[in-house]
Amino acid sequence: MKSMWDFVEIMCPYCGEFQQTDVDISAGSQDYWQDCQVCCCPILFELTVDGEQGFRVIVKRDDD
Ligand SMILES: [Zn+2]
Repeated sequence: MKSMWDFVEIMCPYCGEFQQTDVDISAGSQDYWQDCQVCCCPILFELTVDGEQGFRVIVKRDDD
């Protein structure tokens, strides 16, 4: 059984810094907040899981 955690690289919508973060794809599609590792602003993660293999993450600011 493979890990249900995966890594994704995102660009902070506030400061523009790229960073890696882990996502829990076992929980399915979900939206959640996570602070930027660089500027500590709250980033909205929109995680969409497409079956067991694929997923995608969209990041947004809280004022979008
Ligand atoms: Zn940032």
